[in-house]
Amino acid sequence: MQVSAPAPNTVYRVRVAVPVYLYDCFDYSLSFEQYQQAQIGARVAISFGRQNLIGVITDKLAPDAPLDPSIKLKAITELLDDQAILDGKVLSLLTWASQYYQFPIGEVIQSALPALLRQGKPYNLLARTWKLLDDDAESKIKRSERQQEAYKVLKLHPSGTAENLLNLAGVETATLKALEKKGICECVLDAQDFSPMPVSMAQMPLTANPDQKKAIESILKARKKYQAFLLDGLTGSGKTEVYLQVMQDVLKQGKQVLVLVPEIGLTPQTISRFQSRFHCNIALLHSGLNDSKRLQAWQAAQTGKASIILGTRSAIFTPLPNLGLIVLDEEHDLSFKQQEGFRYHARDIALYRGHLEQCPVVLGSATPSIDSYALVQNGKMSCLELNQRAGSALMPKIHILDLKVAQKQHGISQMLLEEMKKRLDKKEQVLVFLNRRGYAPVLICESCAWQAKCPHCDANFTVHRTPYQHLHCHHCGTIHRMPSHCPQCSHTELKSIGMGTAKVEDSLNELFPDYDVIRVDRDSTSRVGSWQKIYDKIQKSEPAILLGTQMLAKGHHFPYVTLGAILDIDSGLLSVDFRATERTAQLVVQVAGRAGRGERKGDVYLQTLRPEHPLLNTLVQEDYRQFAKQTLKERQAALMPPFRYAALIRCESKDQKLNTDFLQQHAQLLRQNSEHSVDIWGPIPAPMERKAGRYQSHMVLLSADRARLHFYIRHWWLNMLHQKPSTMKLSLDIDPQELS
Ligand code: ADP
Ligand code: ZN
Ligand code: ZN
Repeated sequence: MQVSAPAPNTVYRVRVAVPVYLYDCFDYSLSFEQYQQAQIGARVAISFGRQNLIGVITDKLAPDAPLDPSIKLKAITELLDDQAILDGKVLSLLTWASQYYQFPIGEVIQSALPALLRQGKPYNLLARTWKLLDDDAESKIKRSERQQEAYKVLKLHPSGTAENLLNLAGVETATLKALEKKGICECVLDAQDFSPMPVSMAQMPLTANPDQKKAIESILKARKKYQAFLLDGLTGSGKTEVYLQVMQDVLKQGKQVLVLVPEIGLTPQTISRFQSRFHCNIALLHSGLNDSKRLQAWQAAQTGKASIILGTRSAIFTPLPNLGLIVLDEEHDLSFKQQEGFRYHARDIALYRGHLEQCPVVLGSATPSIDSYALVQNGKMSCLELNQRAGSALMPKIHILDLKVAQKQHGISQMLLEEMKKRLDKKEQVLVFLNRRGYAPVLICESCAWQAKCPHCDANFTVHRTPYQHLHCHHCGTIHRMPSHCPQCSHTELKSIGMGTAKVEDSLNELFPDYDVIRVDRDSTSRVGSWQKIYDKIQKSEPAILLGTQMLAKGHHFPYVTLGAILDIDSGLLSVDFRATERTAQLVVQVAGRAGRGERKGDVYLQTLRPEHPLLNTLVQEDYRQFAKQTLKERQAALMPPFRYAALIRCESKDQKLNTDFLQQHAQLLRQNSEHSVDIWGPIPAPMERKAGRYQSHMVLLSADRARLHFYIRHWWLNMLHQKPSTMKLSLDIDPQELS
């Protein structure tokens, strides 16, 4: 709304999304001049209650919009941007996400901003340099210690210092501005170059095989409209090559491509694959960046300077003026779903965004999620299969090892050990997977069977041996000293049972003294750069045993691995979560994907106490797609997602009865309001009932009609938040991925 002159007695107003856990936006007043300048999608500094916060303008109210005289409007403190930093499309996307996930708009919008902008730093922060004008100003700043400090720092750098560096050194922008007013220093703006860099090919594309060709053509046919594709092809079948060739075409049109990868997948190897194909500006957006680097990358994306945006989950909200294609690689990966706070799924947001921007969305995986297969079944997504493994690589064979009858050493079947030795002697590498960190999951007294349990959780302590012997709870982080004797019977023989990666590392070192054992888990890679070092070692053609957790199973290219082993497949088969078998099947196929990517045929061994399990047998005798087909049928028969839509309420407090009573009472209300069209399970105690000293209870809501489910939940949920005791924590998870 543009108005040329101030009208008398008019209160000019903007609506602001404020970063607080409240579901509304709030109106603020501003002067006529400010109103003229204000842009939807720009930031404002405001006071809210007693806090000073940074909000984003979501609407400019018409000057004659009705004004409720009973509400005392606050004035905004300051307009922070003279232009929108979030464009209309991204604001629509965020508004939709806020409604879909029923999470406060102010917080949703915050999640789309880089930290520095969230903190209210100037948009052009990285181009701002402060220079000293007066180097004899001590007398002018006698009364302010802060100004004296800032002055000292400025004096050290006579040629000027970037504002973000000054901020890092503890000099606040407000202090610099105060010095500027006194004529002591000035702010110089360097020109920031946001012009797009021309795109050219750095490398010729490979000649696509017939499957790849068909996939590329189908996607390109849809390049100016929304269509979703599932690129279903085994590891090494050339999915990345398909992305690259489609991208080539989209980039040539001057459009931007957004590529999302799992958290752990954004390795230097991934990046270099894109860099070696295209000469263009690539913006990287992941959690490992410092704040300035992140702002820089975000701005390159937001201004159109970057042509390829490669990022993890939250990059899906980056404003992109020219979006022409969205690619989501390893679409089954759980890291695309945020598991706390604003619990969105980047895959679902990507599909909606493609629809909003009218561009194709490509989801790729060797083990597509059952959710995606269901979309294919309903005709909402087109499936493109890649059935040839590029080059000469063959699919590895899967073998089941029955632990009930097998001879074992250190919990590993003798036969597996022999196979491992054969491979190592041939100078090949072996990958051993175990999803349990630490030394041992249980510490038990040999005399009275006492077990070391975390005092705050319903869980055993894990025994760790490095950097010193201790007990660690993996659920709440509590660390205890290793007891010297049993607290129950004073017996001094305490035994570690079960195996974690650290124990298997010891065993393997003992069993294979001539070979390197390389352990990859959160404990061994916690230092910066250590993962890279390990990775470089793996890429050398030297025999070695790679031992690790999830980190090892994902997307990496290990050319010398010919044997993969999963030491304990049963933990995945026994879980109560209805998605557990899906995840286990994905794990087996992903581990298989690591084995035999090179010239040599690979084998995968699964250790189990339940060799008759149907899942294992489908995977061995048939394949993942067959498994997926069966699973779809089972879910349909059981009316589980994706055949019904789910929402999960998590409730937590110090008193389980309080949780149960509260949930029960509200379940009753929902039953009445929805006329029994929502199926309610629970309340039931969470799989881990007590965690960090607090009790957890769950309630699952299911319905075949998503719109109705969301409709009924909306008011009911707000009402619940309103009525909950202050000591209780509640969260709502729309389309939950994990029932824990
Ligand atoms: P995925 O992404 O499905 O794991 P990639 O695209 O990484 O598969 O391909 C696996 C390997 O095969 C890579 O080394 C790649 O260079 C090669 N490759 C892919 N497509 C072709 C092709 N059409 N011709 C020759 N080699 C190919
Ligand atoms: Zn004892
Ligand atoms: Zn604990």
